[in-house]
Amino acid sequence: MTSTAEAIEDGVLGARLWFYSNYHCNLTCTYCLTESAPGVPRRELSAPAIVAAAEEAAEMGFTAFGITGGEPFLREDLTRIVARLASIAPTLILSNATVFNARRLRELAALEGLPVQVQISLDRPDPDVNDEMRGPGNFAKVIDAIPKLLERGIGVRIATTVDDPETADPVEMERLCELHRSLGVPDCDHVVRPIIRRGRASGGDLGRGVAFEDFEPELTITADGAFSTPFGPTVTGGRLDTDLLVTRTTSPLRRPAAALMQIAGEQSAGQDARIGIR
Ligand code: SF4
Repeated sequence: MTSTAEAIEDGVLGARLWFYSNYHCNLTCTYCLTESAPGVPRRELSAPAIVAAAEEAAEMGFTAFGITGGEPFLREDLTRIVARLASIAPTLILSNATVFNARRLRELAALEGLPVQVQISLDRPDPDVNDEMRGPGNFAKVIDAIPKLLERGIGVRIATTVDDPETADPVEMERLCELHRSLGVPDCDHVVRPIIRRGRASGGDLGRGVAFEDFEPELTITADGAFSTPFGPTVTGGRLDTDLLVTRTTSPLRRPAAALMQIAGEQSAGQDARIGIR
């Protein structure tokens, strides 16, 4: 029987273990996969559950962690969780970067010297167009937060979400790249991805529909179960989408890992069929 470490080495399973820390958010973006907003059910994973899974994951051969939501930094214990995870393996947190007030910035001192990156959403080089989908003032807050994170030794990646990267305006994209470079984020830390037609983006003609074979299998742990990709545990019409659910069992971690390896091994599609988004 193939071990998790072998499956990761063979590219059957992604090396990063993902956690949905919570589903609530201070924003209500129009394309949000999880229909996140301030008042939605939080669906939080407990800190002990996250840390226990991360420790087991390291023994199994996972070499990186990811935390997403919702807005993870709304959790009061998020920085402590990240400090523990990053002491085990490099950790990436997906954030809208609009909640870094003075107190949260001070708390980031706990991450000094640890392999931590924050992936921040920035969609357009112009405030008015950017804020159309993400809300008033979003652009200004993001531009303000990036240098503050970098000053504190936190790595920053920029994630740009557009309807279709193939048809995105190249002039506008170049202006966006000039902007992130000027803020200290190099091209290698800029990802451009399509809107995924799930959550708030479902039902319209924005973005693209997806299925299991479109994504690299990356084990993703949520309060509701384990999914095959961080693009799986979405919420549509107030209900959790379960088409990419692997199992409701998340502990011990080897159970959902084995289940995902089995499903992934049965898939015939090659890696070239995948969207390749992060
Ligand atoms: S896309 Fe991200 S920032 Fe926007 S509402 Fe959803 S979780 Fe919040």
